[in-house]
Amino acid sequence: MNIAMSMLDSVGLMALLSVILGTLLRTGLSKFQKSVAAGFLFGGGAVLSMMSPIAIMPGIIVDGRSVIIGLGAAFGGIPAAIVSAAIAASYRVYLGGLGAFPGATGIIVAAILGTIWSRYLRPKGRIKVYHLVVVGVIISLQFAVAFLFPYEIAIKMIYDVYPIYFLASVTSAVILGTLIERERRLISSGASLKQAAENDFLTGLANRRSLQMAASDTENPAESGSPRHTLVVLDLDHFKQINDKWGHDAGDRALVTFADIMRQHSRAGDVVARQGGEEFAILMKNTSLPDAKNGMERILQATRSTKIEGPAGGFHLTVSAGMVEYRPAEESFSAAMSRADVALYNAKSAGRDQIKIAQYNIAA
Ligand code: GH3
Ligand code: MG
Ligand code: MG
Repeated sequence: MNIAMSMLDSVGLMALLSVILGTLLRTGLSKFQKSVAAGFLFGGGAVLSMMSPIAIMPGIIVDGRSVIIGLGAAFGGIPAAIVSAAIAASYRVYLGGLGAFPGATGIIVAAILGTIWSRYLRPKGRIKVYHLVVVGVIISLQFAVAFLFPYEIAIKMIYDVYPIYFLASVTSAVILGTLIERERRLISSGASLKQAAENDFLTGLANRRSLQMAASDTENPAESGSPRHTLVVLDLDHFKQINDKWGHDAGDRALVTFADIMRQHSRAGDVVARQGGEEFAILMKNTSLPDAKNGMERILQATRSTKIEGPAGGFHLTVSAGMVEYRPAEESFSAAMSRADVALYNAKSAGRDQIKIAQYNIAA
């Protein structure tokens, strides 16, 4: 029963680990960095667990370490498995005693078993309780390292300790796995809500709202100097006819293709947005008009020459654009937007498939 108590102890530890892991997953670290950090977290957790062990025989201790390491490997990825196993196994060797070598081996085996589960048995979709039971059963198999002890000790350990160890391993896997999964789901549902709120559903571009947000960042008085940006509004030509002639689905494909063209020809800091319907806008921060012009010409050229798949061999698109220099120190974003709309209107009247620039004029 002491063993059960010690295992229960580690449940509290597991709750703590999952909360810290959740915080870690929410940081801006790369996937690899997160996995390494998770390795330190689970390795540290295993060390804590070894600090309140149960000595079943002199030098032979049992605790929640291998479950923690196995689950860290199962959920944290290979870097987490390596880092956590290295920390925990080193600490077990440092503790010494008869069980040092089998103990350290068991830790490494648990990390390998967790990794095997994660590679071959982990479901693609939602992780359910029975998946976690399987994790617990698999990790408990590390107990086979008992055979590194003399045969009689091994048999005694298997009879006396393994049943309770097995139960504790399964229970811990279900508890920690559920906590970790809950954290993961919270994070991914938060991310998809954010994605849905800020991006256009059809094209994945920024929506009108995020363009507004980006624009209000530029109006921030904390921004030093008097920055100049370029603002472009774009409108596909005769799009109503495209829908009428080729069908609404082909129209949607054309919108997606055009969005990809803009993405390909824009730079990392550019905000490319779908304003609505077949109207788009690009905000190029700290980019002068002449610098922006070439990129815009390339977008028009690529649009002209890209074939959209459709019945009877497909069709081509053209786009018209209005460009302005936007100086937040001197005019509001909506004033710049109106000037760009006028330039776009001029491009349309001049025959479409072209760019018109509205020169900066504070009186306008
Ligand atoms: P112009 O060259 O003057 O811009 O002519 P236009 O036909 O593009 O302009 P208009 O504003 O009259 O028509 C826009 C059309 O875009 C009307 C609408 O059916 C179509 N449209 C708007 N949103 C979508 C969409 O999400 N999917 C598809 N397929 N069509 C859309
Ligand atoms: Mg339009
Ligand atoms: Mg149009």
